[in-house]
Amino acid sequence: MKLLIDEREDTYLVFEGKDFHTKYGFVKADDLKNAKPGDMVESNMGRRFHVIEPDVSDFMRKAMRGPQAVMQKDAAIIAGYACLRSGSRVVEAGAGSGVLSIYLSYVIYPEKLVSYEIREDFAEIAKANFSKYKIENVELKLKDIYEGIDEKELDAVVLDLTEPWKAVEHARKALKVGGYLISYSPSINQSRQLAEKLSGFRYETFECILRNWKEESMRPDTRMIGHTGFITVARILSR
Ligand code: SAH
Repeated sequence: MKLLIDEREDTYLVFEGKDFHTKYGFVKADDLKNAKPGDMVESNMGRRFHVIEPDVSDFMRKAMRGPQAVMQKDAAIIAGYACLRSGSRVVEAGAGSGVLSIYLSYVIYPEKLVSYEIREDFAEIAKANFSKYKIENVELKLKDIYEGIDEKELDAVVLDLTEPWKAVEHARKALKVGGYLISYSPSINQSRQLAEKLSGFRYETFECILRNWKEESMRPDTRMIGHTGFITVARILSR
């Protein structure tokens, strides 16, 4: 797998063994195979592309979408506030398109991320993304997390689903003391209902509003993403 970047900074994830076709002509499979990070390849129409190794941010951006996926800014905050690192034990629900799973499994590698999903069609999308990007440390369970969490002594339970409060008692049993329950919800009403169940946790809710700047004009970008979701970070103090 390689990432090509053209002069307009458009990016293309390309897989070995095939010619790469764009509206700017095609790059030969052999040229792609021989290209090393830092090289440039050229299409038959003279379009030039930088070649680098793709990373987790490219996989998140390029992943197939089913339900609304978490953005990298929120995924990074979730992993950061849950203090995840290599080896952390994490259960996530629901997998959805698997975009947040891609990030969490990257952070906790080589530990396996356990991801619950109730909808078979979404689980298929997530699975297709994991296999396309060769992500092997996700165990996808076709299960309703409101019915219980099989795993124990977890460092974190991460929720991105409509009724997170229904998973709190299960998370309470599954987390190690001091572990984190993190929930991502588009509506503050969901965060509020969740908070009502969080006795025994220390918690806070916030959102991340990210504003890009145009360095040339020394002004913020005119357009921005106004809202994605509220993040509740809850740490269990005792059982
Ligand atoms: N974070 C995901 C998107 C999740 S969308 C991403 O970045 O791609 C929410 C998902 O939760 C949906 O796929 C939905 O089917 C699933 N879901 C809803 N309730 C659930 C439950 N009780 N148990 C497991 N999954 C659930």
